[in-house]
Amino acid sequence: MKITHIEHIGIAVKSIDEAISFYEEVLGLRCYAIEEVKDQKVKTAFFKVGETKIELLESTDPEGPIGKFIEKKGEGMHHLAFAVDNLTDALLKIEEKGITLIDKSPRKGAEGLYIGFLHPKSTFGVLTELCEDPGKKD
Ligand code: ZN
Repeated sequence: MKITHIEHIGIAVKSIDEAISFYEEVLGLRCYAIEEVKDQKVKTAFFKVGETKIELLESTDPEGPIGKFIEKKGEGMHHLAFAVDNLTDALLKIEEKGITLIDKSPRKGAEGLYIGFLHPKSTFGVLTELCEDPGKKD
């Protein structure tokens, strides 16, 4: 497995509209996409910073993963996502090393990426996501 770059940093927010204003008006970035990911019960907004993106996450359901996260820990950094060249292979190799996975096989995430999460208990407290862009396959 090979990590190519930090794909995105996920940030949990209570109000995506208020957070977008901060990123656009204060930091001068431009939101280029807003997307609802129904099975994760979130609305997402994306900003590009070089090759890396900022992904804002607003819960659409208090029982969803982001709703629960904000209730427990408040707003803030939620996860770190690395781009890998082959996600299926990466998840297998990582599991072989004794790391607990949340996703044992790739599933669909925002922006048409395939994603898989590693459990923060195994990753020093940082919820870690691996992504593969199927459009970037050679
Ligand atoms: Zn993510």
